Amino acid sequence: AQDGGPRLDQTDGEQRIAIVGGGLAGSLLALALARRGHGVDVYERRPDPRRQDGAAGRSINLGLSKRGMQALAMVGLLEQVLARAVVMRGRVIHAPDGSTRYQPYGRDAGEVLHSIDRNELNRLLLDRAEALPGVRLHFEHRLLRADKARRELELDSPRGRLTVRPLWVAGADGAFSCMRRELQHGERADYHQEYLEWGYKELTLAPLADGGSAIELTALHVWPRSHCLFVSHPNLDGSHTLTLFLPHEGEESFATVRTPEQVAALFRRHFPDLQAMLPGLLEQWASHPTGSLITTRTAPWRFDDWAVLLGDACHAVYPFYGQGMNSAFEDCCVLMAALAARPADRAAAFSEYESARRPHTDVLAELSKANFVELRQKVQSPWFIARKRLDLA
Ligand code: FAD
Repeated sequence: AQDGGPRLDQTDGEQRIAIVGGGLAGSLLALALARRGHGVDVYERRPDPRRQDGAAGRSINLGLSKRGMQALAMVGLLEQVLARAVVMRGRVIHAPDGSTRYQPYGRDAGEVLHSIDRNELNRLLLDRAEALPGVRLHFEHRLLRADKARRELELDSPRGRLTVRPLWVAGADGAFSCMRRELQHGERADYHQEYLEWGYKELTLAPLADGGSAIELTALHVWPRSHCLFVSHPNLDGSHTLTLFLPHEGEESFATVRTPEQVAALFRRHFPDLQAMLPGLLEQWASHPTGSLITTRTAPWRFDDWAVLLGDACHAVYPFYGQGMNSAFEDCCVLMAALAARPADRAAAFSEYESARRPHTDVLAELSKANFVELRQKVQSPWFIARKRLDLA
């Protein structure tokens, strides 16, 4: 505002739905709501990712599975997304001595995962949402406060403070959700958050000079070690996005592996095969940030008929089960179905959505923790391999 103080936005906001967060869940929900004829305003804290070059932002590759695919089919985008994804038919386990073992995801040819660039998927969802007449995207708009009594949102924007009064609001603002905090303020709410003692760093394994892939393209690759772990997802151009999981602190950790010599020693000791394939390793290590991992469980996910949460905002999970985005997308499907089933009672729709989803996402949090142990240890033990052959695992 001109005077720097909050003001009411001069829009027809009262008949429109606000979505806080234009990430994966927020942009998909905007698309789904607009396809049903709703007016939607998406408020995203960051600048428009479509105006930045490819190197900007985190370059996480995600494993898209059946649940996520159903949500993309709901908004008519499945084929376009699959055209940009690489099929992963199984996982390749890399032993410390450089030998590899292939474990197919299933006997059925349809039992595959798809590797997709998170930023590219987000850009596609935003493009498609923006192309619909009811959608307005507001970048660099950060939610500061939600006033439940007045049913208003206060945002920080390039124009100064802004107050909007939407018909209702969906909080899709990620693991450190401001909307969740505001929604639960003054309510009988539960919130549980855990940080993993391990962090992660992403590196890129470049394609070969002829455009081929240095390792099998159509697979997830895992380098399991008891106190560190590499996972890699393939990209269409033959490169792979490698994610190293390592403790934040301790003898061999992000705190102690800092200098070029220390980085080289870590790779020599645990990942000599990868070291040989990563000529720019030291530069990448120095310039790529170290991320943290958190898991959250919370309730309630809704306030009356005015506000509801989805995605990481209400259930952030460790990434080891590869289902965070997929379950955020599934939230969109279940929320849309609940709204369709209860057109005259939004509070009931929100309540049914939460009851349907929360037991599943609580289980997902546990499975994601359990899979951390499996990826590190069990995939390399002879016992696990024997069980896998018998289809017990
Ligand atoms: P986000 O994608 O985090 O989006 C939230 C958005 O809200 C962001 O754009 C943010 O800028 C915005 N925002 C935040 N605060 C505000 C505010 N105050 N006002 C306005 N906007 C705000 N999932 C899978 O399914 N498969 C995988 O293989 C997989 N691998 C992963 C690997 C790693 C290393 C990590 C970290 C995660 C992985 N995930 C995976 C999880 C997946 O990335 C998340 O579950 C998914 O991004 C959640 O989507 P979201 O829209 O809820 O949140």
